[in-house]
Amino acid sequence: MASTDSGQERAARRATARAQIRQYPDPVLRQVARPVEHFDDDLKALAERMMRLMHDASGAGLAAPQIGLLRRLFVFQPDVDSEPRALVNPEVVERSEETAIEGEGCLSLYTLIDEDLTVPVQRAVRITVRARDLDGAELEFESDGHEARIIQHEVDHLEGKLIVDTDRAADAEARRDAMRVLRH
Ligand code: ZN
Repeated sequence: MASTDSGQERAARRATARAQIRQYPDPVLRQVARPVEHFDDDLKALAERMMRLMHDASGAGLAAPQIGLLRRLFVFQPDVDSEPRALVNPEVVERSEETAIEGEGCLSLYTLIDEDLTVPVQRAVRITVRARDLDGAELEFESDGHEARIIQHEVDHLEGKLIVDTDRAADAEARRDAMRVLRH
């Protein structure tokens, strides 16, 4: 049946994409990425490749270190209807005092947590982001809710931080779960 076939194809594409994404405890996930200096065709090709991988892996965001490249670049797509975007050399320059705790998954943690499981993480609900686009133009914008959460998660990747880290997981229980997961 067509629907089953397409479901199987989708699952196969997802598995192929995920096989290209570095998994915990790969040390590259713990390193700080370097700023991008050249805004050239190679950078655009890299961003396109990352957007394809993110899409095929059914992810909402993917940072360059997750494919083994220590460069300050990530792509994200908060929901299937929005256009995927790339941010280069991103910085969160302002964070609201108001925070929220929500469960997050990660494409690099499938060795630790099942894809249906999430780790509760406390994040600012509103942020101001400064970055460059793929042409090197400066951007500054405000973001909130789900998109702001994704951006904070991806910026963490550029600093070598993961949602299972004790200073990221939201509360004592989440930290305990994270530690249990880390010991596996
Ligand atoms: Zn992640």
